[in-house]
Amino acid sequence: MNLHLYDSPSFRMACQQFDLVADFMEIPEAARDRLKMPKRSLSVAVPVRMDDSSTQVFMGYRVQHHLTLGPTKGGIRFHPDVTVGEVAALAMWMSWKCALVGLPYGGAKGGVTCDPRKLSLGELERLTRRYTQELIPVIGPQVDIPAPDVGTNEQVMAWIMDTYSLQMGHAVPGVVTGKPVLLGGSLGRREATGRGVAYLISRAMDTLGIAAQGTTAVIQGYGNVGSVAAISMAKQGIKIIAVSDAFGGIYNAAGLDLNKLNDHVAATRSVVGFPNGQPITNEQLLLTPCDILVPAALERQITEANAAQIQCRILAEGANGPTTPEADAILAQRDIFVIPDILCNSGGVIVSYFEWVQDLQSFFWSEGEVIDKLFRLLEQAFMQTLTLSRNKHITLRFAALSLGIKRVHDAKMLRGLYP
Ligand code: NAD
Repeated sequence: MNLHLYDSPSFRMACQQFDLVADFMEIPEAARDRLKMPKRSLSVAVPVRMDDSSTQVFMGYRVQHHLTLGPTKGGIRFHPDVTVGEVAALAMWMSWKCALVGLPYGGAKGGVTCDPRKLSLGELERLTRRYTQELIPVIGPQVDIPAPDVGTNEQVMAWIMDTYSLQMGHAVPGVVTGKPVLLGGSLGRREATGRGVAYLISRAMDTLGIAAQGTTAVIQGYGNVGSVAAISMAKQGIKIIAVSDAFGGIYNAAGLDLNKLNDHVAATRSVVGFPNGQPITNEQLLLTPCDILVPAALERQITEANAAQIQCRILAEGANGPTTPEADAILAQRDIFVIPDILCNSGGVIVSYFEWVQDLQSFFWSEGEVIDKLFRLLEQAFMQTLTLSRNKHITLRFAALSLGIKRVHDAKMLRGLYP
């Protein structure tokens, strides 16, 4: 199968992971491409009128990985490094993630190659609306439901919902999740990914017999996922000693004051320059001795170059694809409990699913109900993954991927091949 359309470091990595698991599961060669290759992808040129009256064209993508179990689901990323290959890798990981936690979705992902920090609010809105307009043939509550990812947020989701609804002639809140609560968003969606990361960290600590008091954590990427994970872990008594963003990091051995840090980030849009910590680079941050390391930024941060030097007991992958297969092989030889991405950050898509269900029924739940149902699904997936890993003597990543891939494979077998 020629993969050149998607060829990129992240897509090669996602395929490498898949192939290892497919060998282990003895999936016949003939079934592999059907599972691996994205079903559909759309590339769009997105012309945007800039504030200076010039027109700039941005490239946008949407990849839907498989349509076997229901509509597709996945975030939209606005970042300068977005390529169709990266989007395809993220879509494939979404498929295994949704299947692992038992959601009736295939995986999807979207993105626009742009730097949202360099756009004015008006330019960001026009870019979002035009990108949505271009996607209209392939999205919808029964087709493909976007959500936030790196560089997008509730406001961006609100514009997507509004643009889609204007075209349909009526409000369609179920076209997108991660919206403001006022527009049909779910209570607890914004916090869901980070809260889920912290829940699974506490389950890993129970499993390893580590007490929260005196435990230290380091977080790469202080955005939606990283900052909420930090706050949730601090509530459990864990000390957050270092955090970073795209501009640099900060370290304080005594623990960072997260309330003050959040005020600083709200005022300056970065953790850099926080007065109650000393500067640290992202490279140093990943090697800082700690009990819990949470990569919550981008892919391929833990590689064969640094995996042997990482000093933590628990590696909790808030980000998608933060660890390469080469690094995985090194980590497997070390006493590090890796909570793999498709499990660790699944809280986001789980509560997105709850939001979609609430929108379809126009019947909304309390935050307590959302959190309770979220933790129940996470617990089930955590225990299934841990049990398989112990029974088969395989890593937690291998176990999680096996569970997800097997469900998609079995569903394809049951549906058969048309015609
Ligand atoms: P975000 O845009 O809110 O935050 C990303 C953070 O990472 C920012 O602070 C950014 O400055 C930082 N960052 C970017 N490049 C970096 C680098 N090289 N080094 C250190 N920090 C860097 O995005 P988010 O929604 O928090 O997503 C973070 C990760 O979590 C992504 O991998 C995303 O795919 C994954 N994820 C997000 C959700 C969700 O619900 N938002 C759900 C599942 C997985």
